[in-house]
Amino acid sequence: MRESVTQAVILSLVPVKEKDMNVSLFTKEHGRVNARVIGGKKPLSKFAPHLDPLTLVIARLVEKNTITLTDVLEENRFKILREESKRFSEAIKIIALIDVLLPLEVPEGPLWNEVVHSFEKGEPRVANILKILGYDSERMICGICKNPNVGVFSRDHHLFVCESCGGKFSFRDVVYIT
Ligand SMILES: [Zn+2]
Repeated sequence: MRESVTQAVILSLVPVKEKDMNVSLFTKEHGRVNARVIGGKKPLSKFAPHLDPLTLVIARLVEKNTITLTDVLEENRFKILREESKRFSEAIKIIALIDVLLPLEVPEGPLWNEVVHSFEKGEPRVANILKILGYDSERMICGICKNPNVGVFSRDHHLFVCESCGGKFSFRDVVYIT
């Protein structure tokens, strides 16, 4: 990558060391990227306001030994998602899924288009995202009891199950798709 300017959706943000942050980005050009934000934890960091998960940005990434986010410009905070709780929770599920399921630095064009277009329209659908990732809920049966009504996807087990079997998994593992 060396140096790249790309559109990206912020997936998650984790503090590291005293002042830095690690940001997970879903980028248009490179798929999912983990980047360091130097000084990102400082309250007056120029980055801080733009690194909210579920924000579309233009990111400048520089790769030496690790990848650093050196500049960020906010493009869209998807207000249409943030002002309605059902849309918002569906979109949050989607960015959490991408954060967990996507391998690092593999471009994902069709997924990128679906995420950005559905977020812009205010119509995020977890089932559509899973389908693009190769998990089509329509043709699935519960991976445990074979019930044909699947309603839950397990992020850890990469498995569709019915809602009853989904209750056996930990809360942070399961994503409700209906
Ligand atoms: Zn089941």
